[in-house]
Amino acid sequence: MTLKIHALHVGTLLGLSKAAVTFQRGYFERIDVPVIMFVITGGEHTIVVDTGISDAESALARHGITVARPEDQDPRTALESIGVDPADVGTVVNTHLHWDHCANNYLFPDAQVIVQKTELEYAVDPFEPNLKVYERRSGITPDWMRSLGRVRSVAGDVELEPGISLVHLPGHSPGSQGVLVHAAGGDYLVAGDCVSCYENWTGDALARHIPAAFTDLGAYMKSFRKIEALGCEVIPSHDQRVLDHRVFS
Ligand SMILES: [Zn+2]
Repeated sequence: MTLKIHALHVGTLLGLSKAAVTFQRGYFERIDVPVIMFVITGGEHTIVVDTGISDAESALARHGITVARPEDQDPRTALESIGVDPADVGTVVNTHLHWDHCANNYLFPDAQVIVQKTELEYAVDPFEPNLKVYERRSGITPDWMRSLGRVRSVAGDVELEPGISLVHLPGHSPGSQGVLVHAAGGDYLVAGDCVSCYENWTGDALARHIPAAFTDLGAYMKSFRKIEALGCEVIPSHDQRVLDHRVFS
C-alpha cells in the first residue's frame, strides 16, 4: 500500500477578516475559511491529522463565528465517504490545540492523540489574549480536554512510523507541528496553521512567506526556513484548493 493523504471538508468559518490568516494584509476583506480534516491511509494504521470544528451552535456561542457545516461535512459522514471507520483510527495528530483543529478528537475512541508537550502546556495556561482560542473560560470544558486521557505528548521532531514524521513548527503557537509524509509521488507536509493558505507560503512582493496569527514571530520565521529546507510540497490547513485536490499521494 502506498501512503495517501486525503483532505476532507468538515465545515467552513464564514466571513472572517482575511488578516486573520495573512498578517497585516486584508484587514477589510472578508473570506470564508474551510476547515480540513486530513486522513493518512496506507501506513501501519490510519492516522487522522486535525479533527475540525464543533457544531455551528457552539462555534457561535464560544467564538462568535458563524459556521456552515452541511450534512456531508459532518466528520463521520466525511470519513465514511472514504471508507474510514473512526473506531479503526489508531492515531490522531493535532497540529495544535486551537478550537478549530481538535473539536472532534472524541470521535476516535481508540486513538492515541499526539500533541507537542509545549502546546499542551500552553493550552492549559495561555496568555490572556489566547484564552478564547483554547476555549479556556470558566463554565466551559474545552474540546481538547475531552480526549486528555488519551494524549501522548511529544517533544520536537519525531518519527511516527516509517514514512511519516512529526515536524515541530513553533510560531503560530508554541507547539504547532506539521506531519511530513513520504509518499510515492513525493514528500508532503501537512503544515497546520503555520501555512493556513497557499498565500502564506508563496508570499508577496514584500515577504517570501506571510505568517498567520502568531505567539512568536521569530520562531515562526525559523519554522518557514525549516520547511524550505525540507524541500517538500506544502499542504495548507485552510485552503479551498487543498480540498479541490482531495488526495495527495
Ligand atoms: Zn490555529
